[in-house]
Amino acid sequence: MNDVLLLNNNYEPLNVCTVVRAVSLMTMGKAEVLHNNGHVVRTASRSFHAPSVLRLRYYVKRPLPQLRLSRHTVLARDNYTCQYCGVTGKDLTLDHVVPRKHGGQHTWDNVVACCRRCNLRKADKLMHNLSSMKLSREPRRPRYVPYISLTSYMRAQRRDEWLQYLPAFESMIRHD
Ligand SMILES: [Zn+2]
Repeated sequence: MNDVLLLNNNYEPLNVCTVVRAVSLMTMGKAEVLHNNGHVVRTASRSFHAPSVLRLRYYVKRPLPQLRLSRHTVLARDNYTCQYCGVTGKDLTLDHVVPRKHGGQHTWDNVVACCRRCNLRKADKLMHNLSSMKLSREPRRPRYVPYISLTSYMRAQRRDEWLQYLPAFESMIRHD
């Protein structure tokens, strides 16, 4: 009810923030109100209509959101499947395809899910010295879906005045 959709200067949805944060952006002159939500907010000194959609007066350059590399995200990417023997389960570890000892990096394209047996077998050896072990696929950085938290949030909210700023999202839920 009191959440505010925050748009970038080019109307690209950025975030969902609280009314308190929204009001502070407004009073600092950093954002303009595009829609009110019909509720009145009172502070000690004044009262005003609570914003529902806010647009920044300046453009925020954002880096593309990056999915953090962690045990959890690597196992999820590899579908909890050992990338060498295909065994599945939760009891998997991470393996550096090019071992760190040989200069392998801790990066998306060098880390895979691996069972303990394969991990022991592979140890610090390089792939070309392991004729019997093969990667089921080349590890890559997973594709990241931008605004995932915002879209799932908005799926729960279904506010008409918000939906017009996410046309793709709007058509998605209308055709569900
Ligand atoms: Zn394995």
